[in-house]
Amino acid sequence: MNPQTIDASLVHTIVAGVVAMIDRMNGRAIPVELSARHIHLSAEHANQLFGSDLTFDRPLSQPGQFLCKERVRLIGPKGILDNVAILGPSRNRTQVEISLTDARTLGVRAPIRNSGNLPGTPGIILASHQGLVGLDEGVIVAARHIHMPSDYAQQQGIKDRQLVRVRMDCERPLILEDVLVRVADDFRLAMHIDFDEGNACGWEPDKSGHIIAGQREQSHGY
Ligand SMILES: [Zn+2]
Repeated sequence: MNPQTIDASLVHTIVAGVVAMIDRMNGRAIPVELSARHIHLSAEHANQLFGSDLTFDRPLSQPGQFLCKERVRLIGPKGILDNVAILGPSRNRTQVEISLTDARTLGVRAPIRNSGNLPGTPGIILASHQGLVGLDEGVIVAARHIHMPSDYAQQQGIKDRQLVRVRMDCERPLILEDVLVRVADDFRLAMHIDFDEGNACGWEPDKSGHIIAGQREQSHGY
């Protein structure tokens, strides 16, 4: 091919793509994914709602995690949310992850918590076409976090459960404090924020964040 026939905008696109790739390889950019409202069900509750095990629909970014075909209705004191996604596999305890906006819609005072930290959280009613589950507790607004592979964390000098400060490289850039880093061998590098946080910074697919220095000393104990 005659190089002079290559369109200038194509060259620009290729260069931008390569720069982004090198950025990621150097560990500077962290892919940011939006976590829509979803539920993790215990096997017992899955059975109460659907009379069977959960059905695989498609894999999610973290190895072993998947979206289920089933959907559930959340019924709160003030409102309902329909068609809420269920993530598999089933867990020991049912956990409902919503945004603060969802919490207002439903009329529940969901606290910001790390996944699995459920004591003292409000309950809610889960409904399917086949059944109802009255949850005593388990509704949280999931604290933003980064899934980080062990080798990458070691390279960056970051420890499991460390809090970091992340600059979101989006249309409305902002800096997010107290981002919890979870480190595991089988994690794929990704930061998870919810819809409120995504909208606050004008997030779009393929956006990244950068860990920046200067995490403040005082932090919330989610
Ligand atoms: Zn996550």
